Amino acid sequence: MLAAVRAHGVLSQAEIARITGLSPASVSNIVHQLADADAVELSPGIRGGRRAQEVRVRSDGGLVVGLDFGHRHIRVAVSDLRFVVRAERRVECDVGASALSALAVAEKLVGELLEEIGTTRCGVRAVGLGLPAPMGPDGGTLAAWPILPTWATIDPARHLAERLGAPVYADNDANLGARGELYFGAGRGVSDLAYIKAATGLGAGLVVAGNVYRGFAGSAGEIGHLTIDEMGPVCSCGNRGCLETMVGAPYLLELIRHSHPDVRTVEQLVTCALAGDGGCQRVVADAGRHIGFVAANLCNVVNPERVVVGGDLAAAGDLLLEPLRSAMPRYAVVTVASTPVVAALTGERAEVLGALVLAVEQFQRRHDQANDADAPVDGSGSDDSVHPAARSEAGLDNVHHRVVGDPATDFGAAARRPVGGPA
Ligand SMILES: [Zn+2]
Repeated sequence: MLAAVRAHGVLSQAEIARITGLSPASVSNIVHQLADADAVELSPGIRGGRRAQEVRVRSDGGLVVGLDFGHRHIRVAVSDLRFVVRAERRVECDVGASALSALAVAEKLVGELLEEIGTTRCGVRAVGLGLPAPMGPDGGTLAAWPILPTWATIDPARHLAERLGAPVYADNDANLGARGELYFGAGRGVSDLAYIKAATGLGAGLVVAGNVYRGFAGSAGEIGHLTIDEMGPVCSCGNRGCLETMVGAPYLLELIRHSHPDVRTVEQLVTCALAGDGGCQRVVADAGRHIGFVAANLCNVVNPERVVVGGDLAAAGDLLLEPLRSAMPRYAVVTVASTPVVAALTGERAEVLGALVLAVEQFQRRHDQANDADAPVDGSGSDDSVHPAARSEAGLDNVHHRVVGDPATDFGAAARRPVGGPA
């Protein structure tokens, strides 16, 4: 509901009920709870020639924090509930070397950004956290996975929640990238989307019927570990010949180690390729072809409306995307061969923007849950009362992020409630 108000700027309660499919009684309950929490403001106005109470998202209704941990960076953004970003920063950090050190850097950055905009942690309503590894079904800890071993023994969401004093919701970074592009980028207006993040590793965030699909164990979309060569090099996951052993940063950089000893990062590789360096262009193009093979097969299985490619490697633009696109008709069945493959519009910010979306959605969900607890048992608040289009737009029906730092949370109730969808 908050998303609907945010998207339209201002709405009456009747308009909210029509857009979301909620009953007028439910809308009234939620609006007043959001107003009590200072998330929205109410004022008299004229809607459709008649007097009506207008609902707006308050610009001073609190803040959310988005945290994106890559393998080599941390990006932090602070926004209000209308997604107006008030402060943002990226720092280089070897995130895999020490989880506790990386979390300390993030905590310090959050404090600095809040200070810059003249506020404190008290104003933070929720935090979204992205990590470059699959999150387990509880949504707070990493799935059993031999990547990021220093993170395996801690609960990063709980750790940060205790230090930031706000609920923290975690997800895989590609899932957040998909959410960022769905709201603000090339995925707007699309309900079935495959977002491919090509950076140090390779992963996909899958949006199916408007929902981010995480799978039974939380590892859906791990396309970097599809087997391309059964007898190929051993991958960080323990298998052999995964796609990542062909297009992951360490492998691409190894290809040019002798010819380009000064090129040590994917960003430098892309810069050289864009500057016309033939060797770097070849490495990027071959990566595009390999990713295209998997993207085509992914389209055969999932049939997205659009494939959006983000991550550091995607900064190469058509040097990466043209070979990727050319692989599609070669390996995809005819019904999906023409699936558009486009670059992410939010660039390297997709994941942190997705983290902000996750935080706002979960903040809203807590209010929806409170409303559930108060609602009479008449079925008016059940999923069945929601128009399918509104539910499809909701975007989080199958997400079961565990809230950390808010013991009152009950996601059994959350799973029955719709939440606001893409703007
Ligand atoms: Zn692998």
